[in-house]
Amino acid sequence: MAEQKRDYYEVLGVDRGADEGAIKKAYRALAKKYHPDMNPGDKEAEKKFKEASEAYAVLSDSDKRRQYDQFGHAAFEGGGAGGFGGFDFNGADFGDIFGDIFGDLFGGGRSRRASNGPMRGANIRTSVRITFEEAVFGVDKEIELALKDECKKCHGTGAKPGTSPESCGKCGGKGQVVFTSQSLFGTVRNVQTCPDCGGTGKVVKEKCSDCHGSGYISSRKKIQISIPAGIDNGQSVRIREKGEPGVNGGPRGDLLVEVIVAKHPIFQRQDTNIFSTAPISFAQAALGGEITIDTVDGKIIYEVKPGTQTDTRVRLKGKGVPTLRNRQIRGDHYVTLVVQVPDHLNGEAKELLRKFDAVAGNTLHSSSQQEGTKEHHTEKKKRGFFKNER
Ligand SMILES: [Zn+2]
Ligand SMILES: [Zn+2]
Repeated sequence: MAEQKRDYYEVLGVDRGADEGAIKKAYRALAKKYHPDMNPGDKEAEKKFKEASEAYAVLSDSDKRRQYDQFGHAAFEGGGAGGFGGFDFNGADFGDIFGDIFGDLFGGGRSRRASNGPMRGANIRTSVRITFEEAVFGVDKEIELALKDECKKCHGTGAKPGTSPESCGKCGGKGQVVFTSQSLFGTVRNVQTCPDCGGTGKVVKEKCSDCHGSGYISSRKKIQISIPAGIDNGQSVRIREKGEPGVNGGPRGDLLVEVIVAKHPIFQRQDTNIFSTAPISFAQAALGGEITIDTVDGKIIYEVKPGTQTDTRVRLKGKGVPTLRNRQIRGDHYVTLVVQVPDHLNGEAKELLRKFDAVAGNTLHSSSQQEGTKEHHTEKKKRGFFKNER
């Protein structure tokens, strides 16, 4: 904290109005230049790399960037306006943010680890199915999955009690192996987790009988997940430190639960808005009147206006899906009113409709008497003809 921090825009060499693409491009160039794997043992390069990474972590995230623009570095210092603390370069979020950049820069390997140091466990992905309404209002679910834990018998060493693991011959106990390869950027020094010891730097000669040398025991665990109101199909809920256990005392990875929302028989959803249709009778459309509409909050009474045309869309304000950030703020529910034309009428109803047509239908005739109604006339003549015959 004593050292004066440089402005993030200055660090990346972009101007304040730079867009996402420009920021990414600037960071890629710096990351390529200063990445520790490209500059082994160079402390200055490492410092520059971290500085650029920190700047990118903030400026590539629209929320963090907004806070930085407003409060400067104070936004990210403990207890500052933003209040989410400093950056932890071994932390969970970091890998996620940079995965896409380093993925193609360095061939996908997560090679940024202190040799033989604590390593965070891998994330586990799973999914859960919920109903349409559960997605709208949120739900607590219990899921069961196999989770690894440290073996109690050998305390995670994997070695038979009374024996100890030995230093790995392949990596010399470092937990990493180094090899060089050719890439777009010239010769790249790749650092990979040692395949023999899995990054621990140790190999087990006499294996623990409980865990067969792995150091872990797998068991079914029940995990409570709280799915927030407003979640949409395909979004994930992150449960911290319920993933694979870390290595050498590192933290567990996270559990990422993808939410799969079932289709609803009558409601469709788009973001926070809900769409449905409601049938109204010809008489209701013409005269107006009350109808019952299903919403996610239950049935409501809606007053149809006289003279409503078919496919009229009405908005039920605030009857949609809550936003994820604030469940008090909800989208709307749009209902398309569809006029039903009766196809099975009894004699009385037919008679009444004919009478209605005679009274009101005149307007139809008078307004379109010339061209379009020839068929009508022919039809009428035919009918008249048969009538006369009878
Ligand atoms: Zn064991
Ligand atoms: Zn090894």
